[in-house]
Amino acid sequence: MTNMHEKSISELAAGLRNGDYSSVELTRAYLARIERLDSGLNSYITVDAERALSQAGAADRMLRDGAASPLAGIPIAHKDIFCTQGVRTSCGSRMLDNFISPYDATVVTRFKEAGAVMLGKTNMDEFAMGSSNETSFYGPVRNPWDRARVPGGSSGGSAAAVAARLCAGATGTDTGGSIRQPAALCGISGLKPTYGRVSRYGMIAFASSLDQAGPMARSAEDAALMLGVMAGFDPRDSTSVHQPVPDYGAGLDGDIGGLRIGLPREFFAEGLDAKVAASIEAAIGEFRKLGAEVVEISLPNNHLSVPAYYVVAPAECSSNLARFDGVRFGHRCQGPKDLEDLYKRSRAEGFGMEVKRRILIGTYALSAGYFDAYYLKAQQIRQLIASDFRRAFEQVDLIAAPATPGMAFAIGEKIDDPVTMYLSDIYTIAVNLAGLPGMSIPVGPANGLPVGLQLIGNYFDEGRLLNAAHRFQQATDWHLAAPADID
Ligand code: GLN
Repeated sequence: MTNMHEKSISELAAGLRNGDYSSVELTRAYLARIERLDSGLNSYITVDAERALSQAGAADRMLRDGAASPLAGIPIAHKDIFCTQGVRTSCGSRMLDNFISPYDATVVTRFKEAGAVMLGKTNMDEFAMGSSNETSFYGPVRNPWDRARVPGGSSGGSAAAVAARLCAGATGTDTGGSIRQPAALCGISGLKPTYGRVSRYGMIAFASSLDQAGPMARSAEDAALMLGVMAGFDPRDSTSVHQPVPDYGAGLDGDIGGLRIGLPREFFAEGLDAKVAASIEAAIGEFRKLGAEVVEISLPNNHLSVPAYYVVAPAECSSNLARFDGVRFGHRCQGPKDLEDLYKRSRAEGFGMEVKRRILIGTYALSAGYFDAYYLKAQQIRQLIASDFRRAFEQVDLIAAPATPGMAFAIGEKIDDPVTMYLSDIYTIAVNLAGLPGMSIPVGPANGLPVGLQLIGNYFDEGRLLNAAHRFQQATDWHLAAPADID
């Protein structure tokens, strides 16, 4: 019973049903770890012990009545971008520091209905804009593998909390890499589903045509169990897709002999850290041993993904963030002289630097006279990128590549150089522009720091990603490695 926090979601689900421990005991154990360890990591913005224990009590009753969901009684955390009724939902921003959501996001509702316990809300880059978790109003998150380093972003709090065993699993969102990149830098398994697979209702919008929620967990198996709860059509999100949700857990054990894996030549070129490259190559060797057939492919327009993204994402964010005007909710300046002063000062005080930079870029790109040169052009490039993938998936079943060009970097190293920071997403962004599913699984540590292998699938082929990742994790134990100074 002492090492409950070491167990996977599926092991915990079995333990709860066996009566080895109750959800209340499990929740207490996690809350005690957060209390003891999170001051050194800052992975949570809000911890709600009372609510968690009452949800755990209810889950114990559900379990006694034969609850079906594997998530019943399991303590998880939500990225603070998901609206949670009655609980502060800050989105990592001063703008929403005082915002208590009157409703739950669909993802939150689904976990509640499954009987999962919410320990709290995790830290994140402000409005999910960042790759290091340093843009949070609540301060940076520290990487549990090395506290002088970033955990990645924007779902850095979720990644650090899962890696440090401060929750059994967590939700994240990924607009340009924010699930896969922090999963890679913290040594966990994180999946960004196909655009439309998971409802965006109640998930505070950054760039609506790119945003997608997904699971962050210790293993592909746990991610599969979580995705099964999250995925599915939602009438409240007009971009959510009417497609049946497969039983992801049941598909995990399928044979991957003969699976065709493509390695995009452009991802193994200049800019890739040699240690990351070596770990990725070793992992590809494992897939070969499992019977996969590995071929080289090309994604010739990948170098255009970062520039195209930094037009589309800011354009959409400038429109989405217009609602934060100091009038209906969120931060309001003191003693405004008139309406214009209210807007200007509330926004100037409520938003941080990176968010302001994006709003300015986006407003510029959408303005009359520049729209065709920037926004329209970026949308055309997006089509080129999507057709690169379409061609690739005529040849292969899955694409394998590094998730990030390097390992976790030092806090402060890139924060004053936005272009270098933006380039840390060079391997993840194209997947969002094309709307495809992608996953990062640990294939390190190398020199004490995690490395992530990215697997990219065709539309709605999350099951195949999870199957390949699970078979790999059955044959190897990189996913079991834990940060040394976290007991
Ligand atoms: N790092 C990228 C950005 O800053 C992606 C963020 C995300 O996926 N939310 O926009």
